[in-house]
Amino acid sequence: MNAVPVHPSLQFSALQIAWLQELGIDKPWIPGDVPRNQPVAVSPAKVQRPASTVPHLAGRPPVGHRPPSPAAPLAPTKKGALAVPALTGSEVRTADIAAMTTDLAGLTAAIAACQACGLCQERHQVVVGQGVERPTVMVIGEAPGEQEDRQGQPFVGRSGRLLDNMLSAIGSGRDRNVYVANAIKCRPPGNRNPRPDELAACLPFLQRQIELVRPDSILALGRFAAQALLSTEGTLLSLRGQSHFITSGGRQIPVVVSYHPAYLLRRPMEKAAAWQDLQAVRNL
Ligand code: SF4
Repeated sequence: MNAVPVHPSLQFSALQIAWLQELGIDKPWIPGDVPRNQPVAVSPAKVQRPASTVPHLAGRPPVGHRPPSPAAPLAPTKKGALAVPALTGSEVRTADIAAMTTDLAGLTAAIAACQACGLCQERHQVVVGQGVERPTVMVIGEAPGEQEDRQGQPFVGRSGRLLDNMLSAIGSGRDRNVYVANAIKCRPPGNRNPRPDELAACLPFLQRQIELVRPDSILALGRFAAQALLSTEGTLLSLRGQSHFITSGGRQIPVVVSYHPAYLLRRPMEKAAAWQDLQAVRNL
C-alpha cells in the first residue's frame, strides 16, 4: 500500500488516514514534531477512503453524523402540566399525547403545541374549553370560528350568546354547571367545514377532555360534533331525538344531539326543536 506524503515527519497510509478520519481526526500532528502554526491538513479529496478494505466499518454512519434523537418524552411537571415539545405531522399520534396528560392544564399545553394537522398553520390560538369540571352537561360544538380563534374561548359572539341564553333557560351556565368545548381545537380557514382527517386527528384530545372533565351528560351541537363523538356518519336529522351513550373513563355518558346555535341563527324556526333537546338534557 502506498504511503500518502503528508509531512516529512508524519507518514500515514491511506488506510491509516481513513481510520483517523473515522475517529474524527482530520489534522494529525505530533507535539514537538510539527509546529502548531503549521497544522498538517489531510485533504479528503486527495485520499481514497478504502472503505471496502475496512469491512467492520462498512455500513456505519459517517463521523459527525448523529442519528435523529427519539421524540423527547413528555415529562410530567408540577400540577400535572406537561413540558411539551413541538409536535409535528406524522411524527405525532395525538392519542399517545392525549393519554399522557393528567389534567386539563396538561391537556391544554399539549393541544397548544400540536401540529398534527394543517389547521395549526393559520390558527391564532387553540380553543380548548371553558367552564367547570364535573359539570351537569358538557356542550360540544364543531370548530372555532373567527372570534373564538382570536379570543381563545369557545362559543363567543352571537352563537355564544344564544347558547348561553338557551342554557340559562334550563337553569344552567358555564359559570355554574356547564363546560363548553369543540370537537376541533383549531379554526378551519374561512370557517369551512372540518375535514374527516382533521376530525380524526383531533378526536383523541376531545376524548381525553371528556375523561378529565367528567360530565354527567353531553350535548353535541351540529353534525360534525355528533359524528365525531359517536363515530358515525349519520346525518344530524337521523341522530337527533335518539338516545346515545358513549363510554368515557369507565362511565356511560348520555349524549343528546341538537342543532348548532349558528344554524339556529340562520333557521330560527328550528329553535322549538332545540328547546325539546334542551329539555331532554335537563331531564337527564
Ligand atoms: S385541530 Fe387538533 S389535531 Fe389539528 S393541529 Fe389543532 S389541536 Fe392538533
